[in-house]
Amino acid sequence: MYDIIVIGAGTAGLTAAIYGKRAGKSVLVYEGESYGGQILTAPEVANYPGIKNISGYAFATGLFEQAKNLGTEFNFDQVTGVTGSAREGFTVTSELGSNFAKTIIIACGARHRHMGIDDEERFSGVGVSYCSTCDGAFFKGRDVAVFGGGNTALEDAIYLSSICSKVYIIHRRDEFRAEQALVNTAMSFENIIPKLSYVVSGLNGNKTLESIEISSTKNDSKEEIKLSGLFVAIGQVPSNGCVSDFVELDQAGYVKASEDCVTNVPGVFVAGDGRTKAVRQLTTAAADGAISAVAACSFIAKSFL
Ligand SMILES: Cc1cc2nc3c(=O)[nH]c(=O)nc-3n(C[C@H](O)[C@H](O)[C@H](O)COP(=O)(O)OP(=O)(O)OC[C@H]3O[C@@H](n4cnc5c(N)ncnc54)[C@H](O)[C@@H]3O)c2cc1C
Repeated sequence: MYDIIVIGAGTAGLTAAIYGKRAGKSVLVYEGESYGGQILTAPEVANYPGIKNISGYAFATGLFEQAKNLGTEFNFDQVTGVTGSAREGFTVTSELGSNFAKTIIIACGARHRHMGIDDEERFSGVGVSYCSTCDGAFFKGRDVAVFGGGNTALEDAIYLSSICSKVYIIHRRDEFRAEQALVNTAMSFENIIPKLSYVVSGLNGNKTLESIEISSTKNDSKEEIKLSGLFVAIGQVPSNGCVSDFVELDQAGYVKASEDCVTNVPGVFVAGDGRTKAVRQLTTAAADGAISAVAACSFIAKSFL
């Protein structure tokens, strides 16, 4: 039986493994795809404290190697379910079989919802972004657009308005879904330009994004907007399917927990983007990884004397 099984080898899961191993625990990490999680494909990370500039791949590889060198075991397999309790031990099941642990750290992360239009993947990282906090600074003084109409989209637009020249907000309905106070604030900025009842229907450019095509949701009209960046803010989807009938989730599917990373099931902790939280970034994922691993270690100390 392992002391800790971590589900997900993103920033949160790998940090949890590092803290678990350094505390002398046996740790098995499950990863359904490749190590690193969302950051693996990011061209540049420039907001992680202490590291001026690094590619997502180098960042993820460094974390993975650090966890591996400490003796973390890895199972590259998709977890399909978790059962059990702290008293009898937890069973983690994947296609290859089952493993057992005293504690579980869920670090399954989340995915940004994509637009699903042509060339979206081609321009991802060279014009199309899913994170204004991460990438806004790369578009300093340039024109950009935000696609979405909820709180995140409006917050993104407000944030970008202080960095970028013009910020278009493209939303498919004729009014924003965001809180009215946020809408009022956004509309008070002269360089934020709403484009209501439109969707993004095309992406144009050679190597980088140069313009977008928007199509009306009310008639056949189309428009071209010249810009350098498009921030897609049409929602995130947590990847918590494998634990959805095991721990309590909120309405959107995030595992319910506060900053202590404790779930409603004793001995089960949650770290990173898959948890209910306000800021989903590498720093907060790493912080959760550390907190959840330390919590798992003290749970073991109290429960398995
Ligand atoms: C393009 C892009 C650029 C970004 N740039 C920045 C940036 O510059 N700075 C910044 O701070 N943040 C950035 N972010 C956000 C940052 O990547 C996330 O906040 C961070 O990756 C969250 O880490 P995590 O470990 O919680 O989740 P994730 O990175 O999502 O990792 C979760 C892992 O769990 C695995 N998994 C899920 N379900 C299962 C299962 N059932 N079985 C096994 N494995 C499973 C997934 O395959 C994945 O590898 C960016 C995000 C994107 C998409």
